[in-house]
Amino acid sequence: MKRTGLFLILWFSCAQALTTEARVQTATSSPFDVLHYEAQVEPDIANKSVTGKVLIQLISRVDNLATIDLDCGELTIDAVRENGATREFLRADRHLRVTLSRPAKASEKREIEVEYHGTPRFGIRFFSERTQVYTVFSTSQWLVCVDAPDDRATLQLKLIVPADFKTVANGSLAAQRKSTGNKIVFEWRQVIPVPTYTFGFAAGRFQTFTEKHGRVQLRYLATQFSAKELFRIFRDTADMIDFYEERAGVRYADSTYTQVLAAGGAEQEMSGFTVLRESYGREVLANERDVWLGAHELAHQWWGNMVTCRDWNHFWLNEGIATFMAAAYKEHRFGREEYLREIETNRVNYQKVRDAGKDRSLVFPNWSNPTREDRTLVYDKGAYVLHVLREEVGERAFWGGLRQYTRRNFGKSVTTPDFQSAMERATGKDLSDFFAKWVYLTKR
Ligand SMILES: [Zn+2]
Repeated sequence: MKRTGLFLILWFSCAQALTTEARVQTATSSPFDVLHYEAQVEPDIANKSVTGKVLIQLISRVDNLATIDLDCGELTIDAVRENGATREFLRADRHLRVTLSRPAKASEKREIEVEYHGTPRFGIRFFSERTQVYTVFSTSQWLVCVDAPDDRATLQLKLIVPADFKTVANGSLAAQRKSTGNKIVFEWRQVIPVPTYTFGFAAGRFQTFTEKHGRVQLRYLATQFSAKELFRIFRDTADMIDFYEERAGVRYADSTYTQVLAAGGAEQEMSGFTVLRESYGREVLANERDVWLGAHELAHQWWGNMVTCRDWNHFWLNEGIATFMAAAYKEHRFGREEYLREIETNRVNYQKVRDAGKDRSLVFPNWSNPTREDRTLVYDKGAYVLHVLREEVGERAFWGGLRQYTRRNFGKSVTTPDFQSAMERATGKDLSDFFAKWVYLTKR
């Protein structure tokens, strides 16, 4: 996600989403772990609605697990089944509580099937005049799931759309077949477990162009740009992947990376793809250096999607690092001045929050109702603090620490002490004072 640009709309949707999710217990404290979702979703663009069903495979962490709680946004639940038999359920306050047929023992696997429909107000955006639909961050608004960022799962998603549509979802396209009513079913499979907020899809009458970068297929979906323009807009994508792989010490996790230029103000990363606003494409065509947004969203494929904040209180580890890495990419591609220009923007934005007396710890006590200033801290102060740390510890230690942090935690959930200890190992120094001053604000 990006903080600015159609700020109010984004802020509204993200703030809403985070409010919902912050109430959910973290998965590590949850009595069960979801392993896999097998979903079928049919969006109706004209009616701004979805109909779906999902088979949720989970494993109990405790003995005597009698009920399970799922997130369901404002969806209407039509049926819940276990092994084909209807189960009782309670639905209240964006949660669905299902009573299991008999209590599960620790390590016992269960499968729950949920059928649902609804007209979500956020988490998915419908553009009837452009016949496009895509998801934005709040997965439980269109798919019944556990929406905590530290519950990673795999996904098989069957998308039912009109026959002339193209789609992108997580992982790879495994199959497509014609369906009744001039529809087509696209089956996507995400085989690497990822947090559910990175689940999603985009669908519409897109044109699709591809190119190959080593083992990664790069896909571009759009309606208002020529092939020539798209290859120009996204020409740095391959170089960005190489740069992040080198800095992360970990290869890009998927075999494809898709960028969609879509209607509305989209700026949303998901596992294996990103939905961007069309104005981004026009900006890059006008100025080839204007690739910050594409670089930020791609950075999330490492920092955010694969190395994920354990709960939203440590959100700066997702957004501060992605913001900083976009500046670092611009430095690599266009030189030091471009990097310093981005960092100066971060510093100025942060300074405004300080001047307003609203500076606070980057680790939040409760990220349940973030203000505009809180979001500036997470994005801009987060990136600026990384720059200050880089200046303080030097190139070798900083990038070595970032690489250690990324490699050690790839595919895992992290908190700020994980980042601090990786940096301390790389520098051989105690960084408590630095973190107290810049991150926790306990020492000035
Ligand atoms: Zn972001």
